[in-house]
Amino acid sequence: MKKVPELLEETSLDPADWAAFKQLGHRMLDDMFHYLQTSRERPAWQKPPVEAIDGMQQPLPQQPADPAMVYDQFLNHILPYNTENAHPRFWSWVQGGGTPLGMLADMLASGMNTNVSIGDHMPMYVEKQVIDWSKEMMGFPATAGGILLSGASLANITALVVARNHFQEQVRKKGLQAVPAQMMMYGSAETHNCVIKGVEVIGIGSDNFRKVPVDDQYQVRVDLMRQQIREDRAAGLLPFCIVGNAGTVNTGSIDSLHELAALAREEGLWFHVDGAFGAVPKILPEFDDRLKGIEQADSLSFDYHKWLYVNYEVACVLIRDAAIHRAAFASNVTYLVPHERGLSGGPDPMSNYGMELSRGFKALKVWMSIKEHGLDRYRQMIRQNLRQAQYLAGLIKVTPGLELMGPVPLNIVCFRYNPGGLTNEALNQLNQEILMRLHEQGIAAPSYTVLQGNYAIRAAITNHRSRMDDFNVLVEAVQRIGSSVPS
Ligand SMILES: *Cc1c(COP(=O)(O)O)cnc(C)c1O
Repeated sequence: MKKVPELLEETSLDPADWAAFKQLGHRMLDDMFHYLQTSRERPAWQKPPVEAIDGMQQPLPQQPADPAMVYDQFLNHILPYNTENAHPRFWSWVQGGGTPLGMLADMLASGMNTNVSIGDHMPMYVEKQVIDWSKEMMGFPATAGGILLSGASLANITALVVARNHFQEQVRKKGLQAVPAQMMMYGSAETHNCVIKGVEVIGIGSDNFRKVPVDDQYQVRVDLMRQQIREDRAAGLLPFCIVGNAGTVNTGSIDSLHELAALAREEGLWFHVDGAFGAVPKILPEFDDRLKGIEQADSLSFDYHKWLYVNYEVACVLIRDAAIHRAAFASNVTYLVPHERGLSGGPDPMSNYGMELSRGFKALKVWMSIKEHGLDRYRQMIRQNLRQAQYLAGLIKVTPGLELMGPVPLNIVCFRYNPGGLTNEALNQLNQEILMRLHEQGIAAPSYTVLQGNYAIRAAITNHRSRMDDFNVLVEAVQRIGSSVPS
């Protein structure tokens, strides 16, 4: 006789009390709106206190807890000690500040909990729409391929995989042993570290990325790159890819992209552009000349979460030839083959265009943001940031004791306090101290870099909440702190 299975108590992870849960949700929304509305009233940075950090070292919970209590811990111990990149005087690294609608879009995407990888459902078409808009913004042909990724780091690596696999398609099956000699890449000495990591990840090895010197504007010396490529070829090496920078991380410099595109064509190489933030002014007609050549790239990566102000995390990679893009990643394993009808029909699975299988609905916040603001509002914001960078550079030039440390071609300003009479080493220490005090006093949060051995305070302005006066505050504080630090 068959035994009837024993009835166990069945449960789910949904709230037992929906009414209380809704109330909690509404409170969360109100709190976050308040948080965003009052960013200017908070310090630009607050050190996480010991209690908060210790509170993050608890035993693994075994028993359920009330979500309201969990939320209280977030409210008291996590939220106040955020990066504060929504603050009007946040200019660290290159980070965007997000928007309120971007936040809501992420909530909607998370509520839908779509896995945008495969299937016939609208989120797949939303991402296609965002990719099509991205191509148009960057002057890429409508036939190009593309995919959204977590950031420019992954976008760069994805492009490099495509470049490598296109150079020698056997690499997919046979590995790099299918290549008869060492493959070589070229880019400026200012190329972002994530590209170098990519070169390591794809098996080329960072020693085989030629860091070509830059000129005094931090733009790559195209003549030296040409020479290096020819020398390498003569030595039996295999040049295959040039990386151009649209906006270097240190100074925002833009390589001569059309010259690099021509060189790549001349030499039969792949041309990739890292445009993490600096590709974005492509939507401004006044940048037609300076960004000329971007539209000729074989691949381009740029972030939506930096200078397009979309909430973390989302970036885009475009590949000029969609077939080459697909050839680098596509596979036809039985459990992922699209069907003619049903949920398993629909567009080409996203996994044919990148490493990821499961992917969130990042496209929604981009789609909603672009619709909310339109490109006109983005143009206005980007021009505002560009003007602010020039304003800050101007202030530094006229302020006694302050010194501009590099060119300001875009939205990055590098400077230092230099009262005169100090050794370079002392100046480096002094400026590091000034930066730490700026943060600790909660005044402003620029970051730092080192240019030709000199420590520089660096403001990267991808902040839609900054106002001109915020830069006055920064300059006054640097001068005040600088003159008060004993040297
Ligand atoms: C920020 C940045 C990257 C990396 O982008 P993520 O979105 O942080 O992964 C790459 N290149 C440049 C020039 C950058 O500024």
